[in-house]
Amino acid sequence: MQERNWAGNLSYQAERIAHPRTVEELQELVAGARTIRALGSRHSFNDIADTSGTLAALDLLDPVITVDAQNMTVTVSGGTRYGTLAAELQRQGFALHNLASLPHISVAGAVATATHGSGDGNGNLATAVAGLELVVADGGILTAHRGETADFDGMVVGLGALGIVSSVTLDIEQAFQVTQHVFEDLDWEQVLENFDDVTSSAYSVSLFTDWSGSTVGQAWLKGRVSDPGVVAGQRDFFGGTPALSARHPLPGVSGSNCTEQLGVPGPWSDRLAHFRMEFTPSKGDELQSEYLVPREHAVDAIRTLRRLSGLLTPLLLVSEIRTIAADRLWLSPNYGRDGIGLHFTWRQDQPAVESVLPLLEAELAPFAARPHWGKLFDGGAAAVGPLYPRFDDFRTLAGRLDPAGKFRNRFLDYAVFGC
Ligand SMILES: Cc1cc2nc3c(=O)[nH]c(=O)nc-3n(C[C@H](O)[C@H](O)[C@H](O)COP(=O)(O)OP(=O)(O)OC[C@H]3O[C@@H](n4cnc5c(N)ncnc54)[C@H](O)[C@@H]3O)c2cc1C
Repeated sequence: MQERNWAGNLSYQAERIAHPRTVEELQELVAGARTIRALGSRHSFNDIADTSGTLAALDLLDPVITVDAQNMTVTVSGGTRYGTLAAELQRQGFALHNLASLPHISVAGAVATATHGSGDGNGNLATAVAGLELVVADGGILTAHRGETADFDGMVVGLGALGIVSSVTLDIEQAFQVTQHVFEDLDWEQVLENFDDVTSSAYSVSLFTDWSGSTVGQAWLKGRVSDPGVVAGQRDFFGGTPALSARHPLPGVSGSNCTEQLGVPGPWSDRLAHFRMEFTPSKGDELQSEYLVPREHAVDAIRTLRRLSGLLTPLLLVSEIRTIAADRLWLSPNYGRDGIGLHFTWRQDQPAVESVLPLLEAELAPFAARPHWGKLFDGGAAAVGPLYPRFDDFRTLAGRLDPAGKFRNRFLDYAVFGC
């Protein structure tokens, strides 16, 4: 099968891709399969979604977006993408608390890997999950609710190992307006000396760097208009100056692919992601890795990466630094700790990237760095497991819900089960 992931660095090994149109069809598919995995919008960079058997893509599943204004939740079918959901919520006057850099990803696939945006007070996207409906190994339906279902906190960031999510219920809030300001060439030393002030200066802050030189390339500040923050006309941000036209995080790529900047207020749905739904996000011809580091190690970890610039910069398109609030989801890289994300958008040279990852992980190991589940990393279960207090509980849960290993794949064997 020549089907590939979004970045094109991975050919799925599955025998076939099925596109069930109803939950009943999905149930029959799962019940009859030897091995099966859910396939989201294919934006992961490793083989987390793959299987030797059937891939179930939910893109044709009955589309459902149901708002419950009384309980302030929205329920979406398993194939729904954030961009579709965000537009509909905004149309009805509601919002999600945050978005990732791109709106193209499926809700179920993003939640399964604990995808995140940025913001000191913002948990990752999985923290908004209030309920799940899963098609489990025997084809039956398991419904799970936050605060009610035992082990719910283990089910949300499920890596596709527990079943196929046929619908997700998310917390919503009233729609809000956001402004986005970009500053360029911030002074690294000022940023590191005032790191808490930098990251708390807006609802969502991202720093873009290639680790070389004495300045941070760009800071993207997404502020809720009701909050105090960057004001129109502010000339200095930790040594940086305001960008005078729309910017893209990657040097040389048009800012018109990105959500509106220059402080123009607009709906959360058109500002919280970096990239517009109608355009290719990021570059396309790339690879990605990311490590989540506890907040208290943020400055030391960043200093370490700056020291490694000779190794990193030649392979990089750009790096992004974001902040994420702690949560209680067992396999969330933010479990139990506020933290920062140290993200790498690499040139698409996989052998070279894979040769650097073990060195990078050794350098970040003293900071208890947890890898992003959907991006490239090196360490297996022996390295990753001790970083998660509930790792064994997750393995037990997966064994209980999927005793025959129908949802197991090479990735899970390597990174979670250690076999
Ligand atoms: C350009 C780009 C930008 C990105 N930006 C960010 C970012 O800002 N922040 C961030 O944290 N990550 C980011 N990512 C990573 C991306 O968000 C994650 O890899 C995410 O998991 C991709 O979701 P997907 O729908 O493509 O799922 P896939 O990659 O298709 O699958 C991922 C996992 O989800 C499982 N899955 C999918 N659907 C279901 C379902 N219905 N039920 C059960 N399991 C399911 C799959 O089995 C697999 O294990 C980015 C990726 C790209 C390509």
